[in-house]
Amino acid sequence: MRARFPALVLLAGWSAQAQEGAPVELHADRARVRSDLEVLTGHAPIDADGRIVSRSSMHPDHARARAWIAASLRSTRGMKVSEETLEYGENLANVVADLPGSDPSLPMLIVGAHYDSCAYDTPGWQPRRDPAPGADDDASGTAAVLEIARMLAGRGGGYARGVRLALFDAEEEGLVGSREHARRLRAAGVQISVALVLDPVGYNAGGGNLLFATYDAAFEPRARALETDAAALDTPIRLEAVDEAAFGGDGRADHASFAAEGYAALHLAAFPQPPQYHTQQDDLGIVDVDYVAAVASLVASHVAARAGAHASAPSQARGGCTSAADPWAVIALLLVARRGRSRRRLVCAVLLAACRPSLPVPEQARVACGGDAECPAGFLCVASRRLCVEASGACVVRSGATA
Ligand SMILES: [Zn+2]
Repeated sequence: MRARFPALVLLAGWSAQAQEGAPVELHADRARVRSDLEVLTGHAPIDADGRIVSRSSMHPDHARARAWIAASLRSTRGMKVSEETLEYGENLANVVADLPGSDPSLPMLIVGAHYDSCAYDTPGWQPRRDPAPGADDDASGTAAVLEIARMLAGRGGGYARGVRLALFDAEEEGLVGSREHARRLRAAGVQISVALVLDPVGYNAGGGNLLFATYDAAFEPRARALETDAAALDTPIRLEAVDEAAFGGDGRADHASFAAEGYAALHLAAFPQPPQYHTQQDDLGIVDVDYVAAVASLVASHVAARAGAHASAPSQARGGCTSAADPWAVIALLLVARRGRSRRRLVCAVLLAACRPSLPVPEQARVACGGDAECPAGFLCVASRRLCVEASGACVVRSGATA
């Protein structure tokens, strides 16, 4: 905290620390995750024609899977959904869903997975004909992204940053969909805060709930931010941020497409991979639905916090006084008022302290931050709450008003 902050701001910051914890805690619906996994792996009907056999980009059912994913996202409130046709190959397209932010000048967050599947390690597998359920790789990531979309949108949006949910095509054929997506973003001059790629997040070896967040050294702060949020949340997931140099480079997933364009990207993956990897035995039986749901909850909570979400959207929308007067702020204001020897100032001070927690604040103040450099001009980061506040202290956000 800077010395030029008024004493009131300092005191408000102190008291906020007592309430600090998980900034935004979102919880996945396990039943919805399971239901989506069943549809994506051909264990439940996907459309009027019944179940799919494969999501391989070469299989006829691939288009049905894409149509179902797009429809699922379109039914999620507030999402702007499009299918991004790819130049490479036939009938390839990413599905992209945007939750617009209130400040388009802020770099957006991307959460992605690939929806295609393969079974290249099953001898004689014919991609145009044979089954490839790809339950762990990457129906798990796809189902997680669909649930993350519902969790984020279910809060009524209200994020400062835009959030993009992306389901990439033809990852198994060489990161085809994500390469083109990242290249188009770069060509259009779009700024990205970070791209989080979930691939795969279904096989929970030994029930250890381990999740690796691998990063290129340049993007280590993004991995540490995720680690910080994971530690603050009530989650069974044991997140380990790992420098991908330890793997001798980790270019095997869609995050590499973003890194290649100079965008910060993290690869979130269950570890170790299952023995059924890239075979027809990668089916629903090897996926731990609770683990998928827990990963989805963790990522959604992290994204909501970093996108600048409201912790209590209803009271934020209402405005006016709440009963949650900040005792430290009241004491500070009383001291200020006494020094002025003015009864009117005293009354005003008490009223201000009582009402302030739910006063509307500028959108910029809702930007999550890890340091001053991440806040807009004229704003400073209050590290205890990871929120940007006006440098003048005029619109300090109390704990509980936003997250
Ligand atoms: Zn994969």
